[in-house]
Amino acid sequence: MQWTVRLEARTSAGEVKTTELVTFSRPVVVSTLTEIGLVLSETKALLARLQASMLCGQVAEYAAQHRVCAACGVLQPFKDRRTRRLQTLFGTVEVEAPRFKVCRCRQPVPMTGVTVSPVCALLTARCTPELERVQAELGARTSFRDGVRILESLLPVSPANHESLRSRTHAVALQLEAADRQTAAEVMAVRDEPDKAAAADASRPVVMLDGAYIRAVPGHQVRNFEAICGKVEREGQPTRRFALVRSVAEQPHALLRAALQDQGWREGDAVTAISDGDPALPALVRSATGGPVEYILDWFHLSMRVHHVEQVMGGLCALELPPLVPLDQAQIDVDRLRHLLWNGDHERACEALGRIVSWAKDAIVLNNLAVEAKARRLVARCTELRAYIENNEGALIDYGQRYRAGKPISTSRAEGTVNQLVSARMNKRRQMRWSPRGAHRVLQVRAAVLDGRFGQNAFQFAA
Ligand SMILES: [Zn+2]
Repeated sequence: MQWTVRLEARTSAGEVKTTELVTFSRPVVVSTLTEIGLVLSETKALLARLQASMLCGQVAEYAAQHRVCAACGVLQPFKDRRTRRLQTLFGTVEVEAPRFKVCRCRQPVPMTGVTVSPVCALLTARCTPELERVQAELGARTSFRDGVRILESLLPVSPANHESLRSRTHAVALQLEAADRQTAAEVMAVRDEPDKAAAADASRPVVMLDGAYIRAVPGHQVRNFEAICGKVEREGQPTRRFALVRSVAEQPHALLRAALQDQGWREGDAVTAISDGDPALPALVRSATGGPVEYILDWFHLSMRVHHVEQVMGGLCALELPPLVPLDQAQIDVDRLRHLLWNGDHERACEALGRIVSWAKDAIVLNNLAVEAKARRLVARCTELRAYIENNEGALIDYGQRYRAGKPISTSRAEGTVNQLVSARMNKRRQMRWSPRGAHRVLQVRAAVLDGRFGQNAFQFAA
């Protein structure tokens, strides 16, 4: 049995042209399942032929239309015929790009040999935007080598190597970054519109930030470098992610600013930022907004440090202590710590820590080895927690109150973003090493892919 696929093209002038694309044949008596229906290799061949036929016809029609002088309607003289190659998802197609002499009516001095090539003017890139986008998305989702394998196994796309997939991913990242910079710059333009400022939403955007370490390529001055990941959340809006490697981002604050703007933020609107105690993170938010930022220390990071104190105390309680070591007072203070911090009473928490430390120091001199080791640890943990509280004093709030109001108090969701953005593509298990620039660019595309910004019509690159 045989099947022939023919393509019927109808030009705008009503001319019909039929092209035979492919013929498939199968034995009349089918013996196995593999002989039923289309197979991948045939489909790829069909798609490639279809694409070539359609694209060449379209470009030829385009060239014919543009041969007509726009001013006087006369056909411009034919100069010569060149070819151009265009890479597409369905193969690389060589198209004809004829050159025409510019019509006499538009030449300053008649017949000076000025030529136009409408097809070359149309094909501004070596590949279609769709191919570039799909390659970039694959490059952001999986390794460059795997991305190439996936594409080549499913589509008649022209053979590519991982280097070209990488450069496409980088190219798209640069476009995304440029678009973000443009968005960030546009925020300023609405600065002085009072009605917009008045319309500022009561629910302010919350920026959650977290850092992640990525293994650097050999020869880089450090073994690991840091990527800052985060998300901007606002009630009733889909989450917007962002990520950057500060040392190589052209304008780090612009990337966050664009994310804020996407969430409806306006210059001058207040922003809440939640992060661990790293002072660089709120500083980034401040430089992005240029305005008021309410900075909250992440409850999870604070709570973990309280947990360390509780653990050591628990260890002490588990010892069979001589009656010389009264634990009760210290135990009460340790038990109160979490409650005090949760309710924003960090001054009393510091006092309690001071009492625990002085008690533990007394316990050290009791000359009981088991007690001494644990008491020293308790001193260290308490001192650590106290320093953490003091360094972040301005960022400690009444967590309980905020929590009961249904507002976020933790970056735990930002940590999820770190996992999605960094760990899944760049973690140690994959034995991958990155240059800061390469990681930064893949992160731009990855954030856009995960947000679904790639799939929307709204996703338009800046010119
Ligand atoms: Zn003319």
